[in-house]
Amino acid sequence: MQLADRVNRIQPSATLAVFNAKEKLLAQGIDVVDFGPGEPDFPTPDHIKRAAIRAIEENKTKYTPSGGVMPLRQAAVEWHSKYLGSSYAPKECVINSGGKHSLFNVIHALINSGGEVLILAPYWVSYPEMVKCADGNPVILDTDPEDGFVPRASQIEKAITPRTKILIVNSPANPSGTVIPEEEFAAILEVAKKRNIFVLSDECYSHFVYGKARPFSIASLPGAKSNVIISASLSKTFCMTGWRMGYTLAPQEISDAVLKLQSQSISNPTSIAQYAALEALRGSMESVEQMLTQFSRRRRRMIDGLREIPGVTCHEPEGSFYVFPNVSGASYGDGIPGADTLQVTKELLEREHLVVIPGDAFGAPGYLRISYATSMERIEEGLLRLGRFFRAGKPATSTAATRG
Ligand code: PLP
Repeated sequence: MQLADRVNRIQPSATLAVFNAKEKLLAQGIDVVDFGPGEPDFPTPDHIKRAAIRAIEENKTKYTPSGGVMPLRQAAVEWHSKYLGSSYAPKECVINSGGKHSLFNVIHALINSGGEVLILAPYWVSYPEMVKCADGNPVILDTDPEDGFVPRASQIEKAITPRTKILIVNSPANPSGTVIPEEEFAAILEVAKKRNIFVLSDECYSHFVYGKARPFSIASLPGAKSNVIISASLSKTFCMTGWRMGYTLAPQEISDAVLKLQSQSISNPTSIAQYAALEALRGSMESVEQMLTQFSRRRRRMIDGLREIPGVTCHEPEGSFYVFPNVSGASYGDGIPGADTLQVTKELLEREHLVVIPGDAFGAPGYLRISYATSMERIEEGLLRLGRFFRAGKPATSTAATRG
């Protein structure tokens, strides 16, 4: 069958093969430790669930305005202003069916054939595919592991061409956990203004910060609004991945374009989920704080545990719920270097029944993405298996290539 070019241009999710292999083992009753999850392991807080039940009982189950019900748009801009220091009007806010949907809409609203989008590697798997789907060119910029994967404004400026339309930033980042320092955000904004491009800021993990890091949005910087678009998500912060709730904050012309695309595709995000989101944004942040306390402890244990494994190096990320160790200096089996992380991932699952995601999926071979969105007990068990896998290996037979 002759499918549309756009479908042939894009790849299915790179994590699907790992997921399928894991499911097979689980079906055989095998005890699999899963360091793969891209979502918190906590349930949606009760007060949010109750709001959705109330919405059903009150028959708030019909079409809504395309951009979401006005109280929710109002709540979203107020929440973003309160916690992240921005100042948007409700009409500059569009409610979407998740952060991914927001990113998809924004990219499709702005990118023409051949338009360039700068993507910082290691990157979240969907960015390049969304750009390709919109007939644009993803331009990948490597960040420096020695610099904690922090993107630098000077490097970004050099990559801008007359075709560049958007730079995507994601802080805290998936998969590296990197938090971009505020002064670097200011420098990036200056470049964006000077070279007339948009910074599309994916704030999916905005509240998952540890140590001295604080939630921060580029939209809070003076003069940011004309060159900044925010894609926000309730998925991770409020343990609402299945509800599909996110929103876009953007200059009026772009919000209107996102709204237009949305009105001709999904009509509106689910009404019931919108009322749950309204409660999440207006209600107490206590459950978020409690979750972050757990994540903070797990992060510490995971980093310390990984650093004890010979040949594994792990920078200390300030955010998200992932760590991104480099295992190319480690070896396993009969002295096989860990540099081929597609193979490492496969063998870890086969030998130790441990799920991790290869850095290759994020444009960074030699690394593993390890999620600590699981209990402390499973973290201990997973670390034990990972350590056994690499420690059991004889010293590497050849020098492993480390990605720069
Ligand atoms: N952005 C990043 C970096 C993510 O990791 C994810 C989900 O894993 C998303 C966006 C999308 O989240 P959602 O569509 O559930 O809001």
